[in-house]
Amino acid sequence: MTNNIYSTICPGCNFGCGLYIRENEKLEVNFRKSSPSNAGKLCRFGMSLPRFYTPVKSAVDGKEVTLEEAAKEANRKISAGNVAFLSFGNTISEELLVFQKLAGSSLYTGVDFEALPKDTYQTVSVGVPYSDIESSKHIVLFIDPYEQYPLVVRRLLSAKNKGAKISSVWWKYLPIADENIRPAEISKLQLTKDSLVIADFHPLSDIEQVKSILSLAKNAGAKITFLKPFANSTGAYILSRDVKQKSLRQLVEDIDKGTIKTLFCLESDPLEFIPQETLGKLSCIITQAGRASAITAKANIVITHEPMYRKKGTLINNEGRAQALGGEGTNGIEALGIIAGNKFDFNVLHESVKKALGVAAIDEFTIPAYERPAYGAIQAAPKQAEAKTMLVSVPNPFMWSGLADDNDFVELNLNTVRTLKLLKGGLVKIKSNGASVEKKFKVSPVQDNLLLTGKKFGIEKGILTPVEVSR
Ligand code: SF4
Repeated sequence: MTNNIYSTICPGCNFGCGLYIRENEKLEVNFRKSSPSNAGKLCRFGMSLPRFYTPVKSAVDGKEVTLEEAAKEANRKISAGNVAFLSFGNTISEELLVFQKLAGSSLYTGVDFEALPKDTYQTVSVGVPYSDIESSKHIVLFIDPYEQYPLVVRRLLSAKNKGAKISSVWWKYLPIADENIRPAEISKLQLTKDSLVIADFHPLSDIEQVKSILSLAKNAGAKITFLKPFANSTGAYILSRDVKQKSLRQLVEDIDKGTIKTLFCLESDPLEFIPQETLGKLSCIITQAGRASAITAKANIVITHEPMYRKKGTLINNEGRAQALGGEGTNGIEALGIIAGNKFDFNVLHESVKKALGVAAIDEFTIPAYERPAYGAIQAAPKQAEAKTMLVSVPNPFMWSGLADDNDFVELNLNTVRTLKLLKGGLVKIKSNGASVEKKFKVSPVQDNLLLTGKKFGIEKGILTPVEVSR
């Protein structure tokens, strides 16, 4: 950090885009051209970081307290047992190591590794270098890169300029693709050993779909890479490789069964993804965070430390590239130490992170050598669409972080607009399981009878939700 300028990494997804944040009266984002992940370019979310980093104070039951007081209160609650420890990543690896120790067998990373064959763990955790995307001959997209991981688009364009063919298996026509295949027509997809499959992996992933994509790549001998929506989720998975980690689905089940009464979230906000009636069964929500969000507004105990750009520590991006944050703060580790009743030394933790990566120093210009073991044959049973009309969630950085965005509409195609007799400038009514919302709509080249959204409406049942729509 020099003159209040921090060299940091965007927390909007796991792409690992480097940037500078300058602390003036207001925060300012500046480009860091030397960053090997993004060469200074940022997406709309990266440019919105001053809004993302809204400060928040430590509090217990709404009363402002010091970090130490909040952490001591958290220690008391956690000592009573029945606690789930949830982190999607979203913070430095050194802090995640302490969190893991604290959690023991109650670590929830939100993703469903338990449902995947063990030998796929490394493939799912660590993606391929971005240079591999640029040098691919054939790229197959199971994501919408523009909406979900915008900086990958530059790599795709570079590959295309070198002659790569891009195939998309998606619900919407993607202009970057040479071949657009509907998900229901996946049998049309031709993969070879020269193909690179790009999918994603997150708490809402349909695990049968993940298995099916892994299987397609395996059978063709193609490369595969999974992008992820949380900064340092790759770090979280590498560090948790040998411990049992539980999914969001498991968390909801455990709260519903009554075996979890206290939820401790580290820099992670799952509230939009947990049903209200399940949340109501918790007796205490604890959050440790460096910014305000829905969970800091709802939690009984808020432990506030510095925002991520002020932290010292290591993030690992989707390629497995280790990136050092340029701050000096270690309050997050101190707070976890108070909760654990143990003092943790940053340098010792940092050495453990380097050891886990097999590197002598953190150097963002060199990707550590990861083993990429082959995985065996996989049986998958992806679900077929069970309803005529579906709402498709396309999670993006704004949605995952709960940051307000102006894209408050659903996308549907002209046929659907005509069939429903929707009025220009009007609303579409979307019903699911007795709940309904009315939303603006935008005409886009999506599949018939589908509504795509990057917003959370509170009526979703995962990525695909059967709905009834009307004017
Ligand atoms: S692509 Fe991801 S990491 Fe890069 S600026 Fe956008 S949200 Fe941030």
